[in-house]
Amino acid sequence: MKRKLLQIGAVALILLSFTVFDFSDTVEPDDSAENTLSVPTAAPEPVAATPNLDAPELILVNRWNAIPDDYTVHEIAAGNNQTVDKLCYDALMNMLGDCQAEGLEPLVCSGYRDLALQTQLYENKIARLVSTGFSRGDAESRAGTEVAYPGTSEHHTGLAVDLVDMNYQGLDEAQEQTAVQQWLMKNSWKYGFILRYPNGKSDITGIIYEPWHYRYVGLDAAGAIYEQGICLEEYLAQYK
Ligand SMILES: [Zn+2]
Repeated sequence: MKRKLLQIGAVALILLSFTVFDFSDTVEPDDSAENTLSVPTAAPEPVAATPNLDAPELILVNRWNAIPDDYTVHEIAAGNNQTVDKLCYDALMNMLGDCQAEGLEPLVCSGYRDLALQTQLYENKIARLVSTGFSRGDAESRAGTEVAYPGTSEHHTGLAVDLVDMNYQGLDEAQEQTAVQQWLMKNSWKYGFILRYPNGKSDITGIIYEPWHYRYVGLDAAGAIYEQGICLEEYLAQYK
């Protein structure tokens, strides 16, 4: 009886050792597999699609980038004796229509300008400055930050519009407080327009703060520019 028990015990011991061996043998690879899977993996960063910088709505015109000589504008009447390029016409009309639906009164006070008109505006500005005591040289450099030098105005593209409130048409910083500007600043990006010369960006845009000058850049660019609080120059620089 005692021997029988010993035999059973020995068999049990052998089985147990096999079991232990098998157990450890199968567990080890599982462990490593589990370790591999449990390594925290970073969520992939959303990659912004690179915009087509050659798209017509992304043309950059500023004091350092004159409008190309062969640039053509497809003019279409936008009211108040102003025209814009047909590329932004529908978006502009939708924006103004929705603004009016809110009971507001936006007015297109300036759209496309040819070289002759810009020259006239620029010379008028210099004359006014000279009449208030500026030298011709000082008047020219100051005028350039308020009225773009002919050939460097965004109004040559037909994609820029000066929009004011019918109830306050002054082109000065007080325009910012009008109901129309408050609405446009909040909503224009939804139509592909940006406030082109924002406050605090004059060093980059070359133009003073103009809470009335809007520029069509398309929906994607307008959304990104609005969201990031940047200007067009900064937006384009991200992809150069
Ligand atoms: Zn303007």
